[in-house]
Amino acid sequence: KKVADRYLKREILGEGTYGVVYKAIDTTTGQTVAIKKIRLGKQKEGVNFTALREIKLLKEVKDPNIIELIDAFPHKGNLHLVFEFMETDLEAVIRDPNIFLSPGDIKSYFQMTLKGLAVCHKKWVLHRDMKPNNLLIGSNGQLKLADFGLARIFGSPGRKFTHQVFARWYRAPELLFGAKQYGAGVDVWAAGCIFAELLNRRPFLQVLSICGKSLMTSGRVEDLLLVDLRDFVGRKEFQGDSDIDQLGKIFQKLGTPTLSQWPDLEWLPDFVEYSSQTAQPWRKLCPTASDDALDLLSKMFTYDPKSRISVQQALEHRYFTSVPLPTDPAKLPRPA
Ligand code: ADP
Repeated sequence: KKVADRYLKREILGEGTYGVVYKAIDTTTGQTVAIKKIRLGKQKEGVNFTALREIKLLKEVKDPNIIELIDAFPHKGNLHLVFEFMETDLEAVIRDPNIFLSPGDIKSYFQMTLKGLAVCHKKWVLHRDMKPNNLLIGSNGQLKLADFGLARIFGSPGRKFTHQVFARWYRAPELLFGAKQYGAGVDVWAAGCIFAELLNRRPFLQVLSICGKSLMTSGRVEDLLLVDLRDFVGRKEFQGDSDIDQLGKIFQKLGTPTLSQWPDLEWLPDFVEYSSQTAQPWRKLCPTASDDALDLLSKMFTYDPKSRISVQQALEHRYFTSVPLPTDPAKLPRPA
């Protein structure tokens, strides 16, 4: 069945935050594409036009590390966004036990992540939903940012509870403290979480909570618990005070921020005092990382967003020019 006289619909690829994504063939070019169907049903008509105007902006961004928006059109009350088809994503790479990531591989994947983010920030667009499954990987090994700007256009994702939980691990402390004004630093923090996740092969600031009770476990127990957690997703009690749990998890690893480190902290809407905890040594938090990697990581995890390193500065960090150099993307390991 053809959509908009141009796309031949194939199988469903998955269900995302905003709606169903399916595979299709663009009959004008023969190219395989992914079409994201966004329900506009509940929104007022005006939003429709705003969304379309914003999407025109996204269509103009062309960069090797940002997913290309090929087309956008309304069809049967849904907005259809047509993207280039991507083979896999960084989450699948990180979770694949058969994949070994060398320090050069990690550097390459992370450099492409930052390059894509730098383009967003240069255009004054925040991504706001940086996480490994939004970093798509093409057949040539190129990593591309997906879903950028969508949070601003369609409201922050996470009405579906599962999404919200997982995105919380990547949320900057200023957001968890309820900041209404925030900037590019939120993406830098999330990118730091992704960097640590590449290094450790597990989510860095993962909080597990069952029935509102947080379980800050470490080691292999987490993996076992994750399976059982699926039974709890969707249950109301599951929600808990998770922003608080998330801050607790951050402070447990990075130490409680002091006012001298972060002077604006006490003015944030949800500021409450936390019992002071001292930061754990970076070496212990990421045992396999090089000194350069740890130096960059600590600069991305600076509490005060005003002092946090920018994406551009991160790209200029010596980590990227020291050996081992980033692996050629075409030679990066990908799931079989
Ligand atoms: P989420 O909102 O959870 O980030 P998405 O809406 O981005 O999810 O995607 C839903 C599903 O569609 C996922 O399984 C994802 O891998 C797949 N997908 C999204 N975009 C593409 C694409 N450009 N190419 C191939 N698969 C895609």
